[in-house]
Amino acid sequence: MAKAESYKSTCSYCGVGCGILAEKDTKGRITLQGDPDHPVNKGMLCSKGMNLHYVVEDKSDRLLHPQMRWGKSHPLEKVDWDTALERAAAVFSSIIEKHGPDSVAFYVSGQCLTEEYYLVNKLTKGYLKTNNVDTNSRLCMSSAVMGYIKTLGEDSVPIAYEDIELADCFLVAGANPAWCHPILWRRIEKHKEENPGVKIIVVDPRVTQSCSIADIHLQLNPGTDEVLYHALGRCLIEQGDINLEFISNHTDGFESYKELVMKTSLKEAAKICGVPEVDIKTTASLIGNANGFLSLWTMGLNQSADGVNKNLALIDLNLITGHIGKPGSGPFSLTGQPNAMGGREVGGMATLLACHRNLSLPKHREEVAKFWGVDEISETPGKTATQVFEGLEDGSIKALWVICTNPLVSMPDARKVEAALKKARFVVVQDISNKSETIPYADLVLPAAGWGEKEGTMTNSERRISHLSKFTKAPGEALPDAEILMRFAQKMGFSGFDFSNMEAVYSEYCQMTKGTNIDISGLNYDYLKNRGSVQWPFPSGAQGGTRRLFTDLQFHTPNGRAQIQISGPKNNYEKPSENFPLILTTGRVRDQWHTMTRTGKVNKLKKHLPSPFLEINPSDAAERGIADGSTVLVSGARGEVRVHAQLTEKIKKGVVFLPMHWGKILQNDFARANNLTGNAIDPISKQPDFKYSVAQVRLY
Ligand code: SF4
Repeated sequence: MAKAESYKSTCSYCGVGCGILAEKDTKGRITLQGDPDHPVNKGMLCSKGMNLHYVVEDKSDRLLHPQMRWGKSHPLEKVDWDTALERAAAVFSSIIEKHGPDSVAFYVSGQCLTEEYYLVNKLTKGYLKTNNVDTNSRLCMSSAVMGYIKTLGEDSVPIAYEDIELADCFLVAGANPAWCHPILWRRIEKHKEENPGVKIIVVDPRVTQSCSIADIHLQLNPGTDEVLYHALGRCLIEQGDINLEFISNHTDGFESYKELVMKTSLKEAAKICGVPEVDIKTTASLIGNANGFLSLWTMGLNQSADGVNKNLALIDLNLITGHIGKPGSGPFSLTGQPNAMGGREVGGMATLLACHRNLSLPKHREEVAKFWGVDEISETPGKTATQVFEGLEDGSIKALWVICTNPLVSMPDARKVEAALKKARFVVVQDISNKSETIPYADLVLPAAGWGEKEGTMTNSERRISHLSKFTKAPGEALPDAEILMRFAQKMGFSGFDFSNMEAVYSEYCQMTKGTNIDISGLNYDYLKNRGSVQWPFPSGAQGGTRRLFTDLQFHTPNGRAQIQISGPKNNYEKPSENFPLILTTGRVRDQWHTMTRTGKVNKLKKHLPSPFLEINPSDAAERGIADGSTVLVSGARGEVRVHAQLTEKIKKGVVFLPMHWGKILQNDFARANNLTGNAIDPISKQPDFKYSVAQVRLY
């Protein structure tokens, strides 16, 4: 008699990377549980992970066949795969021939598997001869990437999750992990429950769920993070709580840093940040007295016109106290998406090359070209996410291929993105769901396989690489993203894409890492399937992965010393005015994911917060005659949003909050937060600002 089958996988939502056991019964029904043997989650799953199988089983919204239109005024019609990919190859070839390789671009996703990321990067940079391949990780992690590169020499998260249980002071900055990284947060909660002396400080303009176990909440004014971290640095110096031996033997830049932080008095800093002076002092004392100090951060710092500066100012706190490379300590960037880290490893961004190689270095370009057997890699940096859409707008980019992301909802200033896509000569959208708001702008729609319907690997926030099994068939004619890319490459006449399976793709990538700081040449599918997930690096001959980086205090900089950084020039935010006196910040809610194409169809998840809302302080509401539940119009320089008001003291006066998830189609027009966000980007990381736009609110 046939038996139920069990498969190991990894959750495909956030960057925590929880292990999942999927069981398929004899009728093909799927049930899930947390993998009790997985070192990340030890059997636990959050609400999103627990309900992942409903997304797989509900095929009602799935794209089933390639669809194409022959002209902009024609409707999309069903075609076969050969017709679809031959047309894509013909259009891409002709545009490249006429306008050059930089006239085409790929825009992919931190939810792509590493193998898919590797292939799209090889295809674009190696064969199409353009670096125009960027990802929605640009909206998520690129400021943290630059923060690590500038201080530690490479994009290397130094910590392991097991440092959580070894730390006694946590500074959670611009993050709400209780909702956005729940299983990691559960570990922090448990650690504090068992060790009441553990201190947690949360830095956020809103009172979030993460504040419920905080010893101190620094409810700062939006955009003032850097001032706060410098004030903490000043207090640490004044209190004598810095590690002079570490600073002198293993870092550069302390004197300039000291000079900078001493310029602003604590009193001035407290006023700018809108937090009590005493709380800054107490926080510095807690950091100064800690044996293990972890700083954790995510979008509140990254999604900012000053994202890199904010990252540097925070990482500096770990460097001046010597809290890095030892148990329970380190600067820990929480990854938003499940495989943003894997994408960075294979160089899947317009400004990166594979295996932490540097696009601006001729030697690194030559190494990559030689490995792929191509003449050269272009030295022209590719267009980043917002630049891609500007390129469509100004006509320098003619064709765009979008994979596994929904820019019509997720990009800032969404109306501009809409206008840009209308101007595009040719748009390909490759997705699993027909609910993507980007599809109406596509000339070619390609149905992709989803989680559980394809095999591959991902890397989580602690550099842990996990294998994801295929355990069910994709519906209709949907294909894995990697298979689609390989078929397209073959239609283009490119060699180098005749991989027999995903294991072969992964094996090629592993060889490419040899000799680099992220060497995983000792890793293969057999190891991952039979012995489980592993943290990089894992060079050939290694007996296991590498838990913690920099334990020898040798950093990846040219002189081996960490660089304490002073921030660059202050970048411009929009300024509140008479017309737009409020500051709008956007973010996630607990049970939804990105633009809701997956979580939006799971009833259990919709129950938590079923509709979009605006958080507004009661005194701002009273000034405008707004009651709790009133429908309000939120307006800004670029557009409007219509939602119901939620009056709460949890948000500061003068600040309002909108969730980022709701788009145009799913909730009937006006809920899209990115109607209001702007075009400010960090000048170094090119990450857009989603946390600071000016707005007005009135009763609708
Ligand atoms: Fe998935 Fe993140 Fe929840 Fe873990 S914490 S189950 S990875 S969404």
